[in-house]
Amino acid sequence: MAATIDRERLRSLLQAEMEAFVEAHPRSAELHQRALGPLIAGVPMNWMTRWPGAFPVFADHAEGSSIVDVDGNTYVDLCLGDTGAMTGHAPPTTIEALAQRASRGITMMLPTEDAIWAGEELTRWFGLQCWQIAMTATDANRFVIRMARQATGRQRVLVMNWCYHGTVDETLWVLDGDKVVPRPGNVGPLRATGDAVAVVEFNDVEALERELSKGDVALVLTEPALTNIGIVLPDPGYHQALRRLTRDHATLLCIDETHTICVGPGGATAAWGLEPDLFTIGKPIAGGVPIAAYGMTAELAERLYEPVFGEHSDVSGVGGTLSGNALALAALRATLSNTLIEADFARMIPLATRWADGVAAAISDADLPWHVQQLGARAEYWFCPPPRNGGEAAAALDADLEAYFHLYALNRGVLLTPFHNMALMSPVTSDADVDLHTEVFTSCVEELVD
Ligand code: PMP
Repeated sequence: MAATIDRERLRSLLQAEMEAFVEAHPRSAELHQRALGPLIAGVPMNWMTRWPGAFPVFADHAEGSSIVDVDGNTYVDLCLGDTGAMTGHAPPTTIEALAQRASRGITMMLPTEDAIWAGEELTRWFGLQCWQIAMTATDANRFVIRMARQATGRQRVLVMNWCYHGTVDETLWVLDGDKVVPRPGNVGPLRATGDAVAVVEFNDVEALERELSKGDVALVLTEPALTNIGIVLPDPGYHQALRRLTRDHATLLCIDETHTICVGPGGATAAWGLEPDLFTIGKPIAGGVPIAAYGMTAELAERLYEPVFGEHSDVSGVGGTLSGNALALAALRATLSNTLIEADFARMIPLATRWADGVAAAISDADLPWHVQQLGARAEYWFCPPPRNGGEAAAALDADLEAYFHLYALNRGVLLTPFHNMALMSPVTSDADVDLHTEVFTSCVEELVD
């Protein structure tokens, strides 16, 4: 019989961790009190309230695979800015390029030569021939949706249940039975979805075919594997079916590699031989400096040339004042020249395996019905057996368990991504970093389950 969780015990363990947290963070507590004056909830961005603990830890500095907070506590950082710092914090060559570029002009709304390098390199990594630069992955996804509507003359966007592609209206929907409803907690959802959105479960080829055969879907936007509701891997043959069906129904296909770049240079697109029409990526490609890119086939770029780049196109809807700025492009060039290359992944992927093995051993020793899933340099545990889709994964969400595991780890010097049980390896993460997590995770499980 699988072990079960004693909820009373969980509550009292969590309470003890909360007290230890407050004790260890007096300076963060002070700053938090001050921050409550000018900042809503004491943070510059609402997600920062989601860290475990009575208040957010204020950061002092970060270098390599660690962060030091304002109380002098050091953490092994397995969150890495939720992928933004996947290169490790403060990569030296990126810093050098930033300093040099900043003194020669940060943003001019003119192309720099680094932009050509970026386009050529992105083609080499991901195969798509034509590129544009955006500020964030959210922006890139918003822009590809517009491009797809423009190119196809259709309205609907199809996404996977429990996907995440940024704060993009068309993607913040989930299935409730057969109905498409706003994601729980979505702030100010649009009311009408009927002609704008379709949602299907990942790995559900039949549902995909049903929606696409209506002939009104402009774009399927998906990650190659879901990474925002635990990790959900594609069934064998799923991507082939997705590509065949989108082609059969003249629907464009966009692959969002913002997280799945963890699979290797070129992401899952290169590793699994995917052939998207459109492509998006953001977060780590400039070492943490805000930038994103979206790519498309030459054929699609040709179709979009007149409406997007022609003299009658409006400068609204797609683009942005700071997009493609000189500073971010210099950072991208330095970052992709020196990090996230083959040799880095040869270190990072075995580290993720070491992390997953440690977690799997603790789960199995405690006889818990949980699993850990690895995808390249990223791994994540989830409180259920491996799910086949977002709906199954969402059914196993457990806020109390998450809070306990995250806070227990934080109190012992390990940071996990707050809204995941995810660990990401950087090129400078060490065996010792991983082993500290294994030790902490194992004792956390042991305290919970006798
Ligand atoms: N795409 C994916 C797959 C993501 O996971 C995220 C963020 N978690 C985004 C896009 C949006 O990234 P950003 O918040 O940097 O715009």
